[in-house]
Amino acid sequence: MSESLAAPEKNFALDFVERNRQALALLSDSVFYFGELGMQEHRSAQLMSGILEEHGFAVERGISGFPTGFMATYGKGSPVIALHTEYDANPSNSQKAGVAEPAEITPSAPGHCEGHNVNAAVLVSAALALRHAMERFKIPGTLRVFGAPAEEQLISRPYFVRDGYFDDVDVAFHDHISSDLRTDYGLMQSAMVSATFTFRGESAHAAVAPWKGRDALDAVVLMDMGVAQYREHMMPTMSAQRVITNGGEQPNVIPAKAAVWWYFRDVNAEGARKLFDQAKKIAQGAALMTNTEVEVEVMAAVWPSRGNQVMAEAVQRNIEAIGLPSWTEEEQSFALALQKKAGVKEEGLRRRPAPLSGPSKQGSSSNDSGDVSWKVPMVRVQFPANVPGISYHHWAAGAALATSIAHKGGLAGAKALAASVLDFLRDPALVAAAKEGFRREIGEMSYRPLLPEGQKPPVELNAVAMAKFRPLMEAHYVRERPVFRV
Ligand SMILES: [Zn+2]
Repeated sequence: MSESLAAPEKNFALDFVERNRQALALLSDSVFYFGELGMQEHRSAQLMSGILEEHGFAVERGISGFPTGFMATYGKGSPVIALHTEYDANPSNSQKAGVAEPAEITPSAPGHCEGHNVNAAVLVSAALALRHAMERFKIPGTLRVFGAPAEEQLISRPYFVRDGYFDDVDVAFHDHISSDLRTDYGLMQSAMVSATFTFRGESAHAAVAPWKGRDALDAVVLMDMGVAQYREHMMPTMSAQRVITNGGEQPNVIPAKAAVWWYFRDVNAEGARKLFDQAKKIAQGAALMTNTEVEVEVMAAVWPSRGNQVMAEAVQRNIEAIGLPSWTEEEQSFALALQKKAGVKEEGLRRRPAPLSGPSKQGSSSNDSGDVSWKVPMVRVQFPANVPGISYHHWAAGAALATSIAHKGGLAGAKALAASVLDFLRDPALVAAAKEGFRREIGEMSYRPLLPEGQKPPVELNAVAMAKFRPLMEAHYVRERPVFRV
C-alpha cells in the first residue's frame, strides 16, 4: 500500500469500492442500457438517487426545475464538498457492448457513446464509500452529491449555480470518463451559448401562390449565410455549430415555421456572449429580409471549465498511488481490434496514469460544469474506462462501455475520487490552500452567469424521441438491481 493511501479511512473507502465492484458494474451497465437522452434521464436519476437514499443520504429531487436532477446530502458542517456528474446518452448511438464493429442494440435508438453511464456509477460508488467512511471514522463535513442532467446539451449546472446550490460549497469534484487516469488544472474547455432561433412566417401553396407566403425556412437559410460570412471576422478562438431542427413539412407548403439550433463558443464567457449577440443581429436581418419574425430561446450558457491546481495535485497523488487496472490479454486485444476498426493508432489500453502536466491546453469542447469551476475550486477526476484514440459520439466509443474495461476503469475512478475527497475532508489546510489558489487563479474575473435571468430549463427536450424509443429499449434493460453493502 502506497504511503498516500495508508490512512485507515482511505483503506476503508478503497476496500468498500473494491468489495462493491459488482454493484458498480451493474449500476454502470443499467444506465448504459437505459440510454436516456438529456432531460429525460428519469430511470437513471431514480436509480442513482434511490441507492443514495437507501444509504442515508437526504435526497432532493427536481432541483432548479430539472425533473431528472437531484441533490443528495450526507453529514453536516464544514467542509462542504460537492461531487457532481452527468448520466445522459446521445441520439442514434445505440451500440452493442463488446462488439468491435458498428452493431446497434436497438435500431436508430439513443445510446451511450462517451461513457456518462460510468460517470454515474463512479459518482455513486465513491459517494457511498465516503459516506460510510465518514460514519465509521466520525469525520465531520458535508457531502453534497449532484445529479446533473443533460450534459450533452450543456444545460443543468449553470442553473444549480445560479440558484445557490454551490453558495456554501468549499470545493467541488467532477468525475468524467476518459481513456486515461488523469487530472488537469487551468482552463480546460470553452465557454458556450446554446440557443434556438425560431422563425415564423405564413404558409401558402408553394407552386400555386408562393407570393402569398412568408417563408420561415428562407430566414433560417439566410441566417446560416449571414453567420458563414461573419466567420471571416470572428476571433480565431470563436466557433459556431448548428443543426436545422425544423425545415418545414413538405416542398409544396411554404414553411410557416422553421428553426435552427446554434452553439456559439469562445475561450471565455465574454467572447461567447459577443458571438451570440452578433448572431442575434444576423437573425434579425434574416427575419427582416423574409418578412418573418424571430424568437430566440437560450437553451444553455456555460463558462469554460477550469481545474484548480491545489486540488489537481492532491488528486494526482492518489491517481499515482492507485494506478491503472491490470488489463487482461482479452481486454487489450478487444481495444486493439476496436482501434483498428475505427482507424486510429493501435496502441491498446493505457498502462500508467497520465503525468500532471498543467496548465492544461484549453480545448474547443465545453461542459456545463464550467460555471461550478468559476464559483468554487473544482477539479476533474478522469478515469480510464474507454479505449484510447477513439473519438466520442461515434459508435466505437460505445463499444467498451458495458464491458470489463469500463467496469475496471470505473473502479479506478471511484477509488481516485473517494481517496481525493477524503484528503479534503481530513485536512482543513488543504481546503484553505485550494480556496486561496482559486482566488489567485481567477484573479480579476468575477463570475456572473451567462444564463439569462429567469431562464427556465427546457424540460420537454428529447421527450418525443425518448417516448418513441424507450419501449423498444426496455427489452435490453439490466434486470438485477445493484446492491452496495457496507
Ligand atoms: Zn461528457
